[in-house]
Amino acid sequence: MQIRTDVKRAFTDILAADNWVAAFPKMVVFLMLFSAWKVLWNVHITGQQTDGLVSMVLNGFVECLPFLIFAYYAGIKQIRILQTLSLRSRKDLLTGLNNRQTFLENAKARIHEERRGVLLLIDADFFKQVNDTYGHAIGDNCIEAIGHRLHWNLSENDVGGRMGGEEFAILLHGMTTSQAICVAGRIGMPISFSSGVATSDLSITLSIGLVDTRETGNLDDLLIMADDALYDAKRAGRAKLAQWSGGSSEVIRDLCASGPIDRNERRKLVA
Ligand code: GH3
Ligand code: MG
Ligand code: MG
Repeated sequence: MQIRTDVKRAFTDILAADNWVAAFPKMVVFLMLFSAWKVLWNVHITGQQTDGLVSMVLNGFVECLPFLIFAYYAGIKQIRILQTLSLRSRKDLLTGLNNRQTFLENAKARIHEERRGVLLLIDADFFKQVNDTYGHAIGDNCIEAIGHRLHWNLSENDVGGRMGGEEFAILLHGMTTSQAICVAGRIGMPISFSSGVATSDLSITLSIGLVDTRETGNLDDLLIMADDALYDAKRAGRAKLAQWSGGSSEVIRDLCASGPIDRNERRKLVA
C-alpha cells in the first residue's frame, strides 16, 4: 500500500515539477521503478529468459523515456494553463489588484479574523473626460497608474481590489481611523499618468469614502456606508476624503491640498 502511494506521489511530483532541474531526480526514480517492474514482469511473472539484468534495466530506461518526456510536457502545460486561469479568475488584469469577487471574499475573511480596520472606497474624478478627450487607451494608463499608487500603499495585511471601472476598495487591516486617514491622504494625492506623448503627463484626482469596521462587522453594510461617504466627497467638489461615522458622513480632508499639482492645473490638463 505504502509503495503504491509512493509511486503515485513520485508520478504526480514529476508532473508537478515546474523545471527540469527539479524534475530530473524524480524522473530517475521513476525510470528505476519502471525498470524494476520490467525485471519483475519478465523474470518472475512471464518466466522469460533474459540476456542479463543490466541490459534489461537499460531497456526499461529507453522504453520509458519518451513516455516520461511526453508526460512531463503535458503535465507542465496543464499546470501552467490552470495557474493562468486561476490568476485570471482572481485578479484584475489591468492593475494586478484583486477583482471585485476576490476582494469581497478576502475582505470578509479578514474582518472575520479581526474586526479592527478601516475600509476605503476610492473613485477617480471626472474619469469619463479622460476617456472622451484622450481615448480609452489613455484611460487605461490612468487606471494602471491608480493601481500602482494603491499597490505602493498596501501592506501585506491589507486587502485591495478593483471594484469595477475606476472604482477601487481597500481594507486597511488592523488600523485605527487616524492611521487610515494618513494612508488615505497619501493614496489620494493627485496621480500622474502617461498621455502617450513623452513630454506631457496628465493628472487625475481621487475621491475617497472611509468607514471604520467597528461601525459594523458586515462588509456589505460597510460598503454602503463608504459609498455614502464617497458620494459626499464627490458632492463637495471631488478630490476630498469623507468619513462615515455614527450614522452620517462628513468631508474631513481636501486631497488636493498636499498634492503635487493644483486643482485648476489638473482641470486644464484634463479638460
Ligand atoms: P465622477 O467624478 O463623478 O466619478 O465622474 P466620472 O467621469 O469619473 O465617472 P463616470 O461613472 O461618469 O464614468 C466612468 C467611466 O469609466 C465610464 C466608463 O466608460 C469608463 N470605464 C470603465 N471601465 C473602464 C476601463 O477599464 N478602461 C477605461 N479606459 N475606461 C473605463
Ligand atoms: Mg469616477
Ligand atoms: Mg465610478
